[in-house]
Amino acid sequence: MADQFDLVVIGGGPGGYASAFYAASCGMSVALVERDTIGGTCLNRGCIPAKAFLETAAANRHVAHASEFGINANSTGIDFAVSQARKARIVEGLVKGLTGLTKSKKVTYLLGTGSLEAGRVVSVQLADGTSKKIQANNVILASGSVPRTIKGFPIGGSIMTSDEVLMLNKIPKRIAVIGGGAIGCEFASTFADLGSEVSILEGAPKILPGLDPDVANVVVKSFTKKKINIKTGIVVTGQSSLPDGSTQITFATGDPQIVDVVVVSVGRRAFSDALGLVGTNVKVDDRGFVVVNEYCQTGESGVYAIGDLINTPQLAHVAYAEAILSIKHLVAKTQRQLCTTACHGQFIVIQKLHGLALQKEQAREAGHDVVVAKHQFRANSRAMILGEIDGLVKVIAKKKS
Ligand SMILES: Cc1cc2nc3c(=O)[nH]c(=O)nc-3n(C[C@H](O)[C@H](O)[C@H](O)COP(=O)(O)OP(=O)(O)OC[C@H]3O[C@@H](n4cnc5c(N)ncnc54)[C@H](O)[C@@H]3O)c2cc1C
Repeated sequence: MADQFDLVVIGGGPGGYASAFYAASCGMSVALVERDTIGGTCLNRGCIPAKAFLETAAANRHVAHASEFGINANSTGIDFAVSQARKARIVEGLVKGLTGLTKSKKVTYLLGTGSLEAGRVVSVQLADGTSKKIQANNVILASGSVPRTIKGFPIGGSIMTSDEVLMLNKIPKRIAVIGGGAIGCEFASTFADLGSEVSILEGAPKILPGLDPDVANVVVKSFTKKKINIKTGIVVTGQSSLPDGSTQITFATGDPQIVDVVVVSVGRRAFSDALGLVGTNVKVDDRGFVVVNEYCQTGESGVYAIGDLINTPQLAHVAYAEAILSIKHLVAKTQRQLCTTACHGQFIVIQKLHGLALQKEQAREAGHDVVVAKHQFRANSRAMILGEIDGLVKVIAKKKS
């Protein structure tokens, strides 16, 4: 007989673990199926490691400009293996934190690949070689996305996506980033501040094409100051390895360029490859996104899809919002829709101190029925990256608001 759960979540990234934890807090029995490491792209191969390196780059920049502040500091170079080890410690600490939460929230964690069959049966190919079938009352598909690649640039050696570049142990002397979107620009900025000669190779007339032009121009100006070579309206046609280990990139027009590392950063595709879906009414569109309505419901009753797997902005906080929306919808059939047009790409900011409008006691004295929630900075990825882990966020809210 198959195991049975109120909710089975496939994929343990921000969308998946947020759904699992929230559903468990609502009293549901939950299984979370993850084929790699909890935390998904964001924690293991995305936001967190990329921001850890951005911070290393910022530290290097601060040292370079320290004399402007009257500080005598001379750098004798960067030991990037140490930066890598620091990044790995941050990621490991956060993975441990999430693993602890699965236990404390009594979520059944299954290390394996989940696929959806007809009748909301989730089949799990477990990492230990065995398999099991789970009967789910509800299912959330949260299998995320993977980097896109382009013809003529097979990944391997010095040709990398974001996955591989985040594992580098040495700062490349010359690096070309193909694609001037948000992720490409983040890598360009990081490596320029670490001392690499950086080029951005973008096919469109401008980098950051989706951004407000005034804001994009600020980035262009700052990149120009950092001596990043921005080539727009340019079409890469292929690459070849040279005997000295470097790579030559060729273009539809113009001279080739020689670099040490090429980062292919041309967007991410929804990853539904291992989800099965045979015999279900879950539809995948021609771009690979699972089709959902405004409540993240797929065509199959009781099955939702969220995060990078669906056609909404590919951002961790959008995945979190969709997780909460789906659980609220399946628990309470709430009619609140997600407004992704209001989603911004801003990251977490830590303020040193913020006053609270009303203290808990004052609020109670004023006749409010309040709830209090606290989140320690030491459990926050951004605080760990900055190395400033003392502090907390405390929210005092009206119970019914
Ligand atoms: C370099 C980089 C920097 C980024 N920076 C930011 C940023 O600063 N801010 C921001 O908001 N976003 C950022 N993002 C985007 C963010 O990482 C994603 O939007 C977010 O991770 C999406 O979450 P998700 O849960 O939908 O999917 P994912 O995080 O991709 O997680 C999906 C999980 O599902 C698992 N999985 C897949 N198929 C199966 C299966 N069949 N069975 C079991 N498990 C499966 C995968 O192993 C993975 O762990 C960045 C991304 C990258 C690559």
